[in-house]
Amino acid sequence: MKYVGAHVSTGTGVSAAPVNAHEIGARAFALFTRNPSRWQSKPISAKEAAKFKEKCAEFGYTAAQILPHDSYLINLGSPDEEGLAKSRAAFLDEMRRCEQLGLTMLNFHPGSHLRRMETDECLDRIAESINLVLAETEGVRAVIENTAGQGSNLGFTFGQIARIIDGVTDKERVGVCIDSCHAFAAGYGLSRREGYEAMWREFDREIGLKYLSGMHVNDSKRELGSHVDRHESLGRGMIGPDFFSFMMNDARLDGIPLILETPDESLWPHEIEWLYSLVES
Ligand SMILES: [Zn+2]
Ligand SMILES: [Zn+2]
Repeated sequence: MKYVGAHVSTGTGVSAAPVNAHEIGARAFALFTRNPSRWQSKPISAKEAAKFKEKCAEFGYTAAQILPHDSYLINLGSPDEEGLAKSRAAFLDEMRRCEQLGLTMLNFHPGSHLRRMETDECLDRIAESINLVLAETEGVRAVIENTAGQGSNLGFTFGQIARIIDGVTDKERVGVCIDSCHAFAAGYGLSRREGYEAMWREFDREIGLKYLSGMHVNDSKRELGSHVDRHESLGRGMIGPDFFSFMMNDARLDGIPLILETPDESLWPHEIEWLYSLVES
């Protein structure tokens, strides 16, 4: 079973997310549990958390179909003392919000060395940040998203992600989310069958398929290997339509959230429908 959905808006509160997801025909969804571009955020009230759980149950979403995304400000590999402390505190708050909402995964971008640290040192710092936060929380898996490798952002090769996982003590509570736009921009030629299969072979060899916890399903405005992170609506970008068909017929992607982060929200119901239409019986 494929769980396709989108990163929906929370509007007035987190409980709006399952409602918005249901309205577009999604079987999975992503959300921000706090403002993604601010350090400070109000706590989620007990009433709002209860309403979130109620709406999820009403529309048939379980924790396995929900992949919250953390704030864009957080840099768990920051070379800067203050930035690192702030990031770790905010990430801990994000994890606690997931606990409060009964969620089991939190998707995040690994971090950036800001050209002031060696790559490996930064990757090890990210692992240390994950360890610190996992030690203070329960039941929520830290899900590392691959990146396009834009600027000084790490996590654009599977080897880099593997190094982070190597440094995490509790391997049961770490996972990986593959964003197709980021993978393509990072140089993984997933548009054609050979490239698609080669990507998963490398994933399995370097990281291990058991860590695959979700996917972000996006086309790319920019070409293969551009290292530029610009999402495009499905079939309108440089990845082209075949990849989406490979994906929708790949049993390795059963049971995990497959989340659209495409730019035109009005297309989401059609994109979801189109993806399901690609499933060969
Ligand atoms: Zn992301
Ligand atoms: Zn993404």
